[in-house]
Amino acid sequence: MSTESQSGPRVYLETYGCQMNIADSQTVNAVLRRAGYSSAERPEDADVILLNTCAIREHAEERVLGRLSDLARLKSRRPELKLGLLGCMAQHNRATLVEKASYLDLVAGPDSYRRLPEMLRNASFDPAVDVRLDRGETYADITPDHDGSIRAYVTAMRGCDKFCTFCVVPYVRGRERSIAPDDLLREIRELAARGVKEIVLLGQTVNAYRHGASDFGALLRMVARVDGVERIRFTSPHPSDINDSLIDAMTTEPKVQPYLHLPVQSGSDRILAAMDRGYTVAEYCSLVERLRRAIPALALSTDIIVGFHGEDDSDFRATLSLVAEIGYDSAFTFKYSVRENTRAHKLGDSVSDEEKGRRLSELIALQEKISLDRNLTNIGQLFKVLVEGPARRGNAMLAGKTPQFKTAVFPAVEGIRVGATIAVRVESATAHSLICSLVA
Ligand code: SF4
Repeated sequence: MSTESQSGPRVYLETYGCQMNIADSQTVNAVLRRAGYSSAERPEDADVILLNTCAIREHAEERVLGRLSDLARLKSRRPELKLGLLGCMAQHNRATLVEKASYLDLVAGPDSYRRLPEMLRNASFDPAVDVRLDRGETYADITPDHDGSIRAYVTAMRGCDKFCTFCVVPYVRGRERSIAPDDLLREIRELAARGVKEIVLLGQTVNAYRHGASDFGALLRMVARVDGVERIRFTSPHPSDINDSLIDAMTTEPKVQPYLHLPVQSGSDRILAAMDRGYTVAEYCSLVERLRRAIPALALSTDIIVGFHGEDDSDFRATLSLVAEIGYDSAFTFKYSVRENTRAHKLGDSVSDEEKGRRLSELIALQEKISLDRNLTNIGQLFKVLVEGPARRGNAMLAGKTPQFKTAVFPAVEGIRVGATIAVRVESATAHSLICSLVA
């Protein structure tokens, strides 16, 4: 949202959770800017404070409730300040939120952002609540406010039809809807014209994308034709929806980068069935084999949940074996957190928190070792890196991503600018980054 015009009410927006939420916040900013709002850098300077929230894990919800009660203190000093909760948590806890946080002026689910200006106008006495799910809402006509970086996240489809037993997403984000290729291409052309080099297509199951005759592979091929776009990524694909068209786009379109985040969740068939993931371990492994045959430079990451209801030690050992067998480049690992309103909620939570913690530590230790081993094999190799900015470690170093989405760190030499693609050689590695020298 513009900070230039300070005439309208000022909004401070804080975002929690996944990339979809970050992209949604850019849509919220665009909606409010159109309605005359401007943005505030700090909650203290705002007339409206909005938290865009995540409901995937209980811990995320607790964090937001803690933050809300901090912000409520600002409101007690300035009663005219409006405080609102957006996103998945608003949708998930709609029945109890206004009771738990009586100071809230506004509660809006992910399909209600278009109505935010009207809701803010109506939130004078009673809280404005709108958590209707809308099968038709894609926000296709609203160009999100991009943050000016070289990478832009573009929502290609919303919602999910998979209904994995542990997951709230289909209930809080509704059913799958894909955005028309023409609308996506218009947004991507605008982004490219503003200097964006890398497009990340988003969707809860992004490769379930379908619009008319276009599947996700066809969409990738169309995005690859946009001048100025140099790299294309997407997240997160579902293993069951990987098809020949997608693999073909990854092998024939050089802009589509050789990296896949392919959530597996468990290495035990029994647990995969209880989660209703729609594939077996053998099917997942043969998919990985097929992908690696087609795309030899492919890097893989995954999501894994430990301690799902009924997971015993042998199930957990099966997960460790799968992780070792596949050799992921990285993994996002989580303790199972029972979510109300999901199918698994009524099953219970048979694994103690202590045991979940123990399993998580063992899994993380294994994955760290594998990540390090895989990164060490990159020593001596050359990569093209898209320069993103200063490295976290400082010391006059810059950072960017390799095609495999690994963080490369290299010397900040005069003349290297953000958004350039440069060649680097890997000199050493940690589990999380490649330390590189510049190649002339
Ligand atoms: S595929 Fe499963 S885990 Fe992913 S968003 Fe859909 S229901 Fe949730």
